[in-house]
Amino acid sequence: MALSQAGMKVLMLEAGSPIKPARDFHHTFLYQLDYRGRGKPGLLRRYSGSERNYRIMIDNEENPYTTSPGTVYRWGRSRCLGGRSLHWARASDRMADYEFKAASRDGYGMDWAISYADIKPYYDRVERFIGVSAAAEGLPQFPDGVFLPVMPLNCAEAIFTAACKDLGWPSTHRRLAQLTQMHNNRPPCHYCGNCVNGCDVGAMFSTVSATLPVALKTGNLEVRTDSVVARVRMNSENRAQGVTYIERYTMKTVDVDAKYVILAASTLENTRLMLLSAKGGLANGSGTLGHYMMDQVGGGGVSGFLPKLKGGPSRLDDGKSAGITVPNLVNIDKKTARKDFIRGYVMNATGGQSEFPSFAAGLPGYGSAWKNEVKSRYVAQARVWIAGGEMLARKENFVELDPEVKDHWGIPVLKIHFTHCDNDRKLLAHFQEKAEELFKRAGGETMAGMGHHGPVGFPGAPGSPDKSLPDAGLPGEGVRRGTAASGPSRGASKEGGPRGGVSRKDTLGSSIHEVGTARMSANPQEGMLNSFCRTHEIPNLYVFGGNAFPSTGDKHPTLTMMALAARGCDHLLEQAKAKT
Ligand SMILES: Cc1cc2nc3c(=O)[nH]c(=O)nc-3n(C[C@H](O)[C@H](O)[C@H](O)COP(=O)(O)OP(=O)(O)OC[C@H]3O[C@@H](n4cnc5c(N)ncnc54)[C@H](O)[C@@H]3O)c2cc1C
Ligand code: SF4
Repeated sequence: MALSQAGMKVLMLEAGSPIKPARDFHHTFLYQLDYRGRGKPGLLRRYSGSERNYRIMIDNEENPYTTSPGTVYRWGRSRCLGGRSLHWARASDRMADYEFKAASRDGYGMDWAISYADIKPYYDRVERFIGVSAAAEGLPQFPDGVFLPVMPLNCAEAIFTAACKDLGWPSTHRRLAQLTQMHNNRPPCHYCGNCVNGCDVGAMFSTVSATLPVALKTGNLEVRTDSVVARVRMNSENRAQGVTYIERYTMKTVDVDAKYVILAASTLENTRLMLLSAKGGLANGSGTLGHYMMDQVGGGGVSGFLPKLKGGPSRLDDGKSAGITVPNLVNIDKKTARKDFIRGYVMNATGGQSEFPSFAAGLPGYGSAWKNEVKSRYVAQARVWIAGGEMLARKENFVELDPEVKDHWGIPVLKIHFTHCDNDRKLLAHFQEKAEELFKRAGGETMAGMGHHGPVGFPGAPGSPDKSLPDAGLPGEGVRRGTAASGPSRGASKEGGPRGGVSRKDTLGSSIHEVGTARMSANPQEGMLNSFCRTHEIPNLYVFGGNAFPSTGDKHPTLTMMALAARGCDHLLEQAKAKT
């Protein structure tokens, strides 16, 4: 958007189909769907998501990936115009200065090549444009920004807020890129609760509702959908000449040239393209391309009921997807320093009724007494989940090209090598302890077995592709060699929350916050990108997304990705002015 507004001619190549929110997104009840939301048998194995939203997810058969033997990696992807911004959970938090300087503080890993002061003006700019509903709290570990009014708390959230106060913990409204008032020609949210299936009015931020219309209006942007970029082409002067793409349906190969090339196909796809573009990887003198892959630590949590709310009236809890956030409590200063693990995590809590009482199947009993019990508990559901837990960057977590498996267009796919370390597990264990403490203080009653049909449908169960379905999970587990993804995961995603009761430890790495693999570094020997997300080695090649992150921090990553992209665009414009 920034480039086309500055007068540059921009060509955007998108591998997936075009999307028009008003045409493609509808409000449907489960009973209106052919398969009551569960999808045609086999269909949701091939695609991810649910019957309501699989069109904005990805065709796993066309786009497989593989994982190292014995490991599972669930990679949440979208292949259509707008990508995952069409169904993301909209949580938009700024990283704090202590996260950018984590290595200097605890000696592990590498600091970012920027500080909070460098990125602050870009956080301001992004928030001003996208619209983030939030409350200012003045907490150093959770920097405030340019905010729209908050959505009011529902009853369960008010109970959790009071519990936090009792415990002496800070808490605030979840910070969401979801409009509470008219903003930049986009209407406020009407609380239909359809976000994960696509917002027809553009009240939640997505690129198709916010950035692309503005960019297209300049007349400087051309969007070519169904165009699968296969590699970057170089010229003899060590500059990117352009890219080669394959037309999705005709399989025709097309070369396009450009003065500047920006990879913005999502973190791991960007890295795949750089691996595909040169032996040993493009711009990879540092040898770091593909390495230091991270996600955020997820899993665990608590779910059940708040007895105070049992038997209450039905409310529109699932129309409002907020929840509360408990900012990081550990390793912020000397007082909160832990001896057993480094870094921190953020918790969320919410509750109330959902479209589908998925806990009912686990509730013992039968007949009218059972139905009354379901009805009584339906409005009292509650849960605490981890929003983002910092996962450590380790070189041995990496992606490479699979030597055998190719996608539908004959392009080698990624093979992902991804495991967790003791620190990740200890951090999750500490979260679990604190989640149970909060749930107990709120008077919560856990329900064993609730999780199997876990609270995917909860309001504020943002990671869940469908708010009403027990099975509507993320794309399946990492593909075993050469096969399509093994189908939607059962239970909720990391952001979809715990699986019920005091939850079992979920498989770490239900990835939706994947970052790293082309980290930024002050020194070209230690990373791929400079602080503007431009490759150290190729002066006209930029990489936008989560690639640059040398560490994950404990915040949701996308606001930082957007701020980095805005900063990178400013740099590119300066470069263009200087004709470099
Ligand atoms: C369920 C879910 C919930 C989430 N919730 C949050 C949240 O609350 N807060 C948060 O900060 N983050 C959240 N995330 C993460 C967030 O969605 C991503 O960080 C963000 O979308 C990344 O943006 P991106 O543009 O880099 O990638 P994407 O949104 O994945 O977009 C990549 C685009 O590139 C296209 N593409 C891919 N390969 C090619 C190719 N070879 N050629 C051409 N085009 C290509 C894709 O079709 C797509 O349009 C969530 C993710 C998921 C899955
Ligand atoms: S709840 Fe609001 S943001 Fe979500 S789909 Fe409905 S109108 Fe859009």
